[in-house]
Amino acid sequence: MNVGILGGGQLARMLAGAGIPLGLNFTIVDPKADACAGALGRLVTADWEDDAAIEALAGCDRVTCDFENVPAAVLEALGQRTTVHPAARALAAGQDRLVEKRMFESLDIPVPPFAPVSSRPELLEALERIGYPAVLKTRRMGYDGKGQAVLRTVEDLEPAWQALGDHDLILEGFVPFDFECAITVVRSATGALSCYPLSRTVHQDGILRLAMAPAPGTDKLQARAERLGRTLAEHLDYVGCLTLELFAADGRLLANEFAPRVHNSAHWTIEGAQVSQFENHLRAVCGWPLGETAARGRSLMINWIGRMPERERLLACRGLHWHDYGKQARPGRKVGHATLTEADGQSLDTLMAELVPRLDDQSASLLTGLMNDSA
Ligand code: AMP
Repeated sequence: MNVGILGGGQLARMLAGAGIPLGLNFTIVDPKADACAGALGRLVTADWEDDAAIEALAGCDRVTCDFENVPAAVLEALGQRTTVHPAARALAAGQDRLVEKRMFESLDIPVPPFAPVSSRPELLEALERIGYPAVLKTRRMGYDGKGQAVLRTVEDLEPAWQALGDHDLILEGFVPFDFECAITVVRSATGALSCYPLSRTVHQDGILRLAMAPAPGTDKLQARAERLGRTLAEHLDYVGCLTLELFAADGRLLANEFAPRVHNSAHWTIEGAQVSQFENHLRAVCGWPLGETAARGRSLMINWIGRMPERERLLACRGLHWHDYGKQARPGRKVGHATLTEADGQSLDTLMAELVPRLDDQSASLLTGLMNDSA
């Protein structure tokens, strides 16, 4: 079976890595000739709307995405000619933060207060209602903290407006969260659904840096997060993996956003779950039975941002699994990750303590913070 993927980044690369042993072949479309998933499939270098892209994908048995901002019209057109999962409607629901938040509200998925903003007077009005601190975000195309600004005082207003005012915006209340977490759900075309354990996530400057799963101390939250994830997946008649990103505050869960694809917060599932999110996404997309989502113990995933650290220094760390995406170094770019998986939290603590002195200062400090927090 040939699976087409729109987008050739690390998610497509890891999908192909999981799919090749299943007997799948991959056709990958990306505008960039050096797209890192190209190493694992036939790379078609073309814009999403190009005839070359559409023809290459229409000839595949299944089509999926590694990127949520693919124009929904392209997926709709492809959907007339082959089987596309997730469907254009599910992608469209996540492409505009305002539409997404309104959908969450309509499904009784709790969200922070929010308001659409398209002019300065609207921003002032929204701030009056929501109050400081608040987060101003572009409605479309924002990711990894791009296209957003935190407004803590009136002084932050002008620079934020200068940076973002040209776009359609949304203002959200800043959530004083206890921690962030994410739930990944996989759903098949027949409606079978399974959830991975909650992943506790740590972001810096809007970029995911660490994920620990199953998130310690979240036994009570797991069932609630599963309900929210299920509600969303069923509403969208979703096929494949989706991730709902959540804030945990005062024992409540508030939804931030969802990603209609495999997600960085669940990369730990490659080594740390019975069947990884990548394999399960493909099983769902291909119409095959889903695999077990249970954890094999407890895992820590650490992202390499900007450039890869020295390989030998890290590989010498007991139990460390190395993932180099084969991407050029660039500030703020996700270029790889590593995972530690152990049978229980205590053994993982020992391995993490061994890892800390091998990390750069910033990663070491984030990991130490997470270890102290989850002790
Ligand atoms: P996003 O691009 O919406 O996923 O935001 C990236 C990160 O910014 C989140 O994971 C949070 O760490 C932070 N953030 C975004 N929105 C809010 C909010 N309303 N309150 C507090 N932190 C936020």
